[in-house]
Amino acid sequence: MTTRQVRRRCRALVNGLRLPRPFTVEALVAELAERRGRPIELRVLPAGAAGSACGLWIGTATRDEIFVEENTSSFHREHIVLHEIGHMLCEHEAGHSDEHGTIRQLLPDLSPALISRILGRTNYTSEQEQEAELVASLIRTAAAALAPPPSAGVRGELEIALGIRE
Ligand SMILES: [Zn+2]
Repeated sequence: MTTRQVRRRCRALVNGLRLPRPFTVEALVAELAERRGRPIELRVLPAGAAGSACGLWIGTATRDEIFVEENTSSFHREHIVLHEIGHMLCEHEAGHSDEHGTIRQLLPDLSPALISRILGRTNYTSEQEQEAELVASLIRTAAAALAPPPSAGVRGELEIALGIRE
């Protein structure tokens, strides 16, 4: 796909979302879970477990799980969740890797089958990474547009008086 086609596809995906008001990433996750008819769980991943990815999305038969690396700022955490949502919305699939042992050490309570799925999801192509990143930033832009900062001065007071703003 050309860059233009990628942008168009990602924009269409984000336009198709019903963004919660007020916008929070958690509310968006809840909204998506309802729309997809399956739960989305946010879970914490030990630092380094996802390699350079910082986050992981695992789709199992019954649920989606988004893992976010611990020890990161809340802004970064939100961005990771949005990025993983991007992979989810784009329905990215990926191949396999041989890092089984490392992940098993880091996440000993996960079954080998689940680990296979985790690793399967971390080998995205750079185009898929770009798409996920684009979706994340488009969601941020759309969310910011939902709640523009109130106007300053007289105009702001007028807006409050007219009930446009609270
Ligand atoms: Zn990614």
